[in-house]
Amino acid sequence: MSCLIELEDVTKRYGKIVALNNARLKVMRGEILTIVGPSGSGKTTLLRIMAGIDRPTSGEFYFGGVKVDGGDMNEIRSRSTMVFQRTALFNTTVYKNLAYGLKLRGYPKNDIKEKVIEALRLVRLESYENRPAKRLSGGEQQRVSLARALILETELLLLDEPTANLDPKNVSIIEESISRVNKERHTTIVMATHNIFQAETLANRLAILLEGNIAEVGSAKELFNVQSKYLASFARLENVFSGTSRITKDGTSLVEIENGLQIEVAVEKAGKATIHIRPEDITLSKIHMVSSARNTFKGKVVGISGLGSLVRLRVDIGKEVIVQITKKSFIEMQVNIDSEIFLTFKASSVHLV
Ligand code: ADP
Repeated sequence: MSCLIELEDVTKRYGKIVALNNARLKVMRGEILTIVGPSGSGKTTLLRIMAGIDRPTSGEFYFGGVKVDGGDMNEIRSRSTMVFQRTALFNTTVYKNLAYGLKLRGYPKNDIKEKVIEALRLVRLESYENRPAKRLSGGEQQRVSLARALILETELLLLDEPTANLDPKNVSIIEESISRVNKERHTTIVMATHNIFQAETLANRLAILLEGNIAEVGSAKELFNVQSKYLASFARLENVFSGTSRITKDGTSLVEIENGLQIEVAVEKAGKATIHIRPEDITLSKIHMVSSARNTFKGKVVGISGLGSLVRLRVDIGKEVIVQITKKSFIEMQVNIDSEIFLTFKASSVHLV
């Protein structure tokens, strides 16, 4: 297999934040490579550089063996397509959403029709051509976004967490489409995910990204077999977030995750940090409680699943957090999907990974 993309010591800075630090990575033609890492670890940044949307602050980037050095990026952009985590569809029919890119490229009408039908087949939305795209469910809209990318048949497809926040049925259809496109068209695919199990199912190789650093690269088998220290900790852990930490005058630290979310940690740490909170260390309440715990967030319940005497809730506080409580508490609290709720946990319950 020859190499389609090569990054050599690529660094991307946003002001003081180092989103990507001396990344070295090769993407081979025809492979599915997943970029696995917690939120804030630099996955989107890496994809945007590969797509030619952003330029590295330093380092070299080769596409098809040719060095990309900041000149005309249109060539690269025409050879790859990126599907963003949340893509806005045009407020028109599914057909027109899909046809748009081909029309711009001057394809004849009949060819466009054939390609739209084929792209919809790949995402299992046959006969959806005339439906208003914006009225579809979230999962169906994401499948239209994917079809809109597939129709361009570029040699490289970049997917940024394509199944985040979707229900299992849509997740499995999207996974199947990705795998089918790779097999049938030999499209090279780079996919960001924070789901290690999805990476294992779909990918030929995985790159583990932590705090902007590529920690390990290898096949799922290699990484799982050698008991990678990163993978071992990562697979087990839920509620893993990365951000930038600053020390407070109280001798604690505040880790700022995206969206202005700040989590207080009981130790002093400055700079990039990855943190973890155990689902069972989080207290739930319906009203804002005054307590000694340093972290309180208002959120909304977005998912509930049962595990015998325990219940696990997914709560959106600007980031999704998993909380585990007993079934008894769950029943007493009368929480449901969309309930507004407060999460509380101690600074000492936040662990640095
Ligand atoms: P991921 O996709 O893994 O969640 P990102 O690549 O989005 O991670 O972000 C990596 C880091 O870079 C984070 O600390 C994020 O806040 C920061 N970052 C990303 N984009 C920007 C930007 N445009 N301006 C400032 N900081 C950014």
